[in-house]
Amino acid sequence: MGHRLKVGLLSLFSWTVFAVAGPLEAAQLLGVRFGPKGDVTRVVFDLMGAPDYAIYGDDSGNGRLMIDFIDLSLSPADQAYRPGQGHIGRYGFAAAGEEGARAVLDFNKTAKIKEVFVLEPAGAVTKHRLVVDLETADMPAFLASLPSRYPDLTAVIEQATAPAPATAEPPAATIPPSPSQKEVAAPPPERLTVVIDPGHGGADPGAQGQSGTLEKNVNLAAALLLAEILEKRGRYKIVLTRTGDTRIRPDARETLARNAGADLFISLHADAIAQRELRGASVYTLSEQGSERSARIAKEEGDYVFYDLDASSYGEDVGGILLKKAQDKTNTASSLFAESLIENLSGKTPLLNRTHRTGDLRVLLAPDVPAVLLEMAFISNAKDEANLNSPVWRARAMKAVADSIDAYFEEYGDRQYASNRAGGAY
Ligand SMILES: [Zn+2]
Repeated sequence: MGHRLKVGLLSLFSWTVFAVAGPLEAAQLLGVRFGPKGDVTRVVFDLMGAPDYAIYGDDSGNGRLMIDFIDLSLSPADQAYRPGQGHIGRYGFAAAGEEGARAVLDFNKTAKIKEVFVLEPAGAVTKHRLVVDLETADMPAFLASLPSRYPDLTAVIEQATAPAPATAEPPAATIPPSPSQKEVAAPPPERLTVVIDPGHGGADPGAQGQSGTLEKNVNLAAALLLAEILEKRGRYKIVLTRTGDTRIRPDARETLARNAGADLFISLHADAIAQRELRGASVYTLSEQGSERSARIAKEEGDYVFYDLDASSYGEDVGGILLKKAQDKTNTASSLFAESLIENLSGKTPLLNRTHRTGDLRVLLAPDVPAVLLEMAFISNAKDEANLNSPVWRARAMKAVADSIDAYFEEYGDRQYASNRAGGAY
């Protein structure tokens, strides 16, 4: 992360939750089969163990399909290109990251993805099967059939952070809604807002790895993927503090989170330290010192608006007490999220011992937004640096982060959210 070494923002004073990495369960590749039939080619990956995978593609040649398998063990024979059948001209596997593998399938005739599904073991069949059905199509149709990516989330951010439109004034010439329009106009269920903060950016590169990897870049790559995974779950409104290589001040990140009405804030970083053998993820929440600092800033700025409750009218003393209550509640929520994060990351990526630490981190200071800073790995460690650059590792780690966000809201967030909105928090 670079803060501890360069900026000195971090002052550790307490260590709390413990976590130990569990065993990884790797799937094993048994083989690949092709079933060409007219305009459709079925590709079947036979696997021992359930596959964890992500599908990509690009327009090289007649089109190229790539499948990243997380935790897949290959035999050396799998790693050579060989001829395919049907739409597949040739295919092969390459190791990706520490425990993953990427399948590369080059089309000899352009096709789109018709369907992707996994067949569980059943009856006499003891293996899992990942099935990809391809159908003849042109290149735009192929690219459109790939799982969606977010090359530019600027519009998403603008939408999420725009002030709520005034509902009091209807347009001048309003036509009375028909009954069917009324039905459609029912408000959509409120989504939980998650702010994802890729650390550093622009002129501030953060820490640097031995092979030259810049922290700002791996932070952004992880954040964009996490945004994509969470978007797909359909439950969250996602706000990113940056989607490009831009520098944003820590207080601007915090302000953005508060203005977006964040229910949760997660900052993604990669740690660095002189001891190069040290590796693993760690999780930070705001310390008591940080809370005091936050309270001081609030007092200086007369900012007592938190938890949908404007306490400024109560005057400084009462406002301060309410702020303290809000902070206690937020710190509890942050710690619960930190625990969920550690639980879900355990076994998916190395973790530091005693990985939940608290620190006075400026970016976590919003008194009313549960916030966590995740140091995904040590960029100063060669293996961790390779992981940070690996799409396979990234997919596995960010899926675990997304799972931890789901778990946090299921166990705690919804209740808190409901009580805030009901105004019964105090
Ligand atoms: Zn950092």
